[in-house]
Parts: sequence; C-alpha cells; structure tokens
Amino acid sequence: MSRSLVVGNWKMHASRAQVTDLLSALLAGMPRLDGVDVAVCPPYPYLQQAAGLLTGSRLGLGAQNLAVEASGAHTGEVSGPMLVDVGCRYVLVGHSERRSLYGEHNALVAQKFRAARQHGLVPILCVGEQLAEREAGTTERVIGAQLDAVLDLCGGDSLAGAVIAYEPVWAIGTGQVATPPQAQAVHRFIRERVGRGAATPTLLYGGSVKPDNAAGLFAQADVDGGLVGGASLVADQFLSICKAAFSQ
Ligand code: PEP
Repeated sequence: MSRSLVVGNWKMHASRAQVTDLLSALLAGMPRLDGVDVAVCPPYPYLQQAAGLLTGSRLGLGAQNLAVEASGAHTGEVSGPMLVDVGCRYVLVGHSERRSLYGEHNALVAQKFRAARQHGLVPILCVGEQLAEREAGTTERVIGAQLDAVLDLCGGDSLAGAVIAYEPVWAIGTGQVATPPQAQAVHRFIRERVGRGAATPTLLYGGSVKPDNAAGLFAQADVDGGLVGGASLVADQFLSICKAAFSQ
C-alpha cells in the first residue's frame, strides 16, 4: 500500500493573516503525525508566504493549478517552473472546478499532468463523475476516459510517484460524502485501470471529508488518504482528518 497522504485544497480562500494563523496552528499539531504526509494548497499569491512559514517543517506545499507552458506570452497563467521556484512539491491537476468552470477537458488536463511531471512536481490528478453520470451508471466510463487521457499522452510509468484523487463531483462542497463502499469501489476500479505494479499511484478520496467520516473512508483497502476542501481551512478539523489517516 502507498504511504498515507492528506492534502488541503484552500481554493480561493485566505488572506495573509489567515495564512499565518492557519499554518501556525497546523505546524503546532503536526509533530504528533509522523507516518502521514500532509500538504496544503493555498492560492497562488500566498505560496511564497506559505513556503517561508513551512521551511524546515514536514508540511508540504502545493498549488491548485498550473499552465501547460513553461514560460512566455500567457497572461494570467502560472507555470510549473515558477511553482518549483517558490517551493511547491505538489500541484492539483484537473480539479472538478477547473473542469466545469474553466473548460478544462481531458486532453488539456493530460497536458497539465505532463507539464507537472516534466518540471518535477508531483501531480495530484483529480477525477470524478457528476451526479447524473453516477445515476446513469456511467461512473466508470467517465473516470476511465479521464484516466486514459493521461495514460495515452504520458504512459503508465508517468503515474509512478503521482497522486490520483477520486472526487465525486456531487460530494464536493455539498456535505454529501460518498459512503466508504462507494469510495472503495471506484478506488479499486482506478487501481485496476492504472495497474497495480511499481507505478501504482497514491489514491486519495475527496468530497466532503470531515473529522467524523474520515476514518471510515481511510480504512478502505484502496484509499490512501484524502483531498480536503472546506475542512482544511479549520486547523482542528484538518488535524483530526490527518490523525484519522495516521491511525490506519
Ligand atoms: C475539494 O475541493 O477538492 C474538496 C474535496 O472540497 P470539500 O472537502 O469541501 O468537499
């Protein structure tokens, strides 16, 4: 099994003061969490501030998106080398909000995944189905296509050391969490699709993970940890979720 990982996605939240408060509280709680990798993904403007606060700690830093290109005339974009330069280790790729609100289709997401790998970042590839797709029985077809776009462009070996987050869209920010068996079923499908060999990626569940449901989700055989949105903005809640990953 992969090492446990819990990642906080702050989305478009925080201020300079909140970054300091939240990271200080997390750092104070982290020493008790040996055995779990933990990272936070603040908005771009706060990455450098966060990197400074996290120097020398075991709390990792990630970004929420990256450009396909490394540099050039791409107004408003942020590249992989820039993220590395400010201290990022991880980057979210293809979060459902990027897919649904900003038109990021499977082929573009695959290009971003490749860019992350080329620049030495650990991509956290987000996949997941809409509610209508689940109800229509097409969950595996949808997720299979999301995975195949990356496999076709980058090859199976590109998943070695990468992270895949299964995030059912109907569970993100809704409080309607997938049941542990629902999460496990999709994680098993993903594990089989990408192969169980040496290249097997770390598989996270995301979608309304909270302190009271994290342990049940993380206990599933193919769930290696979580991608956490709302609860990652509250230090006590995020630390509780990290502890649930530690106790598996
Ligand atoms: C997310 O943004 O990736 C997420 C899982 O959000 P939440 O935990 O709030 O559902």
